[in-house]
Amino acid sequence: VCPTGALCENEQVSDVLSGLANPDKVVVVQTAPAVRAALGEEFGMEAGTLVTGKMVAALKELGFNYVFDTDFAADVTIMEEGAELIDRLTRSIKGDKSVHLPILTSCCPAWVNFYETQFSDLLDYPSTAKSPQQIFGAIAKSYFAEKMNIPREKMIVVSIMPCLAKKYEADRPEFEKDVDITLSTRELAALIKQANIDFNSLEEAEFDHPLGESTGAAVIFGTTGGVIEAAVRTAYEKVTGESLGKVDFEELRGFDGVRAATVKVGDLDLKIGIAHGLGNARTLMEELRNGNPRGFHAIEVMACPGGCVGGGGQPYHHGNIEVVQKRREALYREDEHKPLRKSHENPAVIEMYDTYFGHPMSHKAHELLHTHYTKKDRI
Ligand code: SF4
Repeated sequence: VCPTGALCENEQVSDVLSGLANPDKVVVVQTAPAVRAALGEEFGMEAGTLVTGKMVAALKELGFNYVFDTDFAADVTIMEEGAELIDRLTRSIKGDKSVHLPILTSCCPAWVNFYETQFSDLLDYPSTAKSPQQIFGAIAKSYFAEKMNIPREKMIVVSIMPCLAKKYEADRPEFEKDVDITLSTRELAALIKQANIDFNSLEEAEFDHPLGESTGAAVIFGTTGGVIEAAVRTAYEKVTGESLGKVDFEELRGFDGVRAATVKVGDLDLKIGIAHGLGNARTLMEELRNGNPRGFHAIEVMACPGGCVGGGGQPYHHGNIEVVQKRREALYREDEHKPLRKSHENPAVIEMYDTYFGHPMSHKAHELLHTHYTKKDRI
């Protein structure tokens, strides 16, 4: 079996088509943030063209029953991971020596696989929050299915991801097929072409509710530094009780392979490390193994250069880093234009916590939205 799922790329397109053709199934699709910034390239558009509305219209035309956004789940990831970060910081400030800091982000499956195989002595550090793809699958087959009265076995959850490792992630046994099929951005483009949909002349459409609601914080998950910036926006307001005047944390942005920044959160100087590319991640992990001399409180790692905008399932960019940078700028533009830009302000997320989960890190949230890691042998 190909560890990243690359060898089953085309098989899964036909699985989606059979699901869509089956009248007994309810087929739900989610689209990751980086997909909207690159899909247009497959249809002759300039790199960095945002095609969110056209992508949604194409998915509706293909026959998906519900077109939702992984960004909703990214907002939920921040609720859970942010709460975990605040909990660890609070306990550490009170002198609890058993707390593991820095917290490591956990939304990139190639990175998860990397630390499970190569840094298995540090498995208490990553956040236990599932990735947005898996959080979405778990929510679709519990909260949403119950709300709509759809039996779990009738629902097929399809993901459109910029990533081939997400196929491997969806197949991890602990996730119990919450996500049934994962397609790459390229595979979605192939599906649209196969269905003879004239993508460029499609009228823009909107995501369905409630799992299509999202904030700007979720959109920037698709680029290096975005997950931690989203977490800081929420953690800042939760810790200080003050509203952020400016939500853009320029100090967390950039393209250097390893970056470090300090953000003032109340009385605390929150020290953050960021790496993209696994070679760069190794540098930070070796540092952590050597006692965390720079005192990081949180580290974000994305395996692909540039983050998911440069993912292995995206249209080929043939090593042209400018293409990746344009996709990245597109995500920052979408964030800037969103009416809400902080995950904890997403009204559909608030309603879900009020009516279903109670609060972040509740017993039910732990059961459905968190995971665990295990030492794995190198392949
Ligand atoms: Fe997938 Fe790359 Fe994004 Fe990681 S950084 S989730 S491997 S696309």
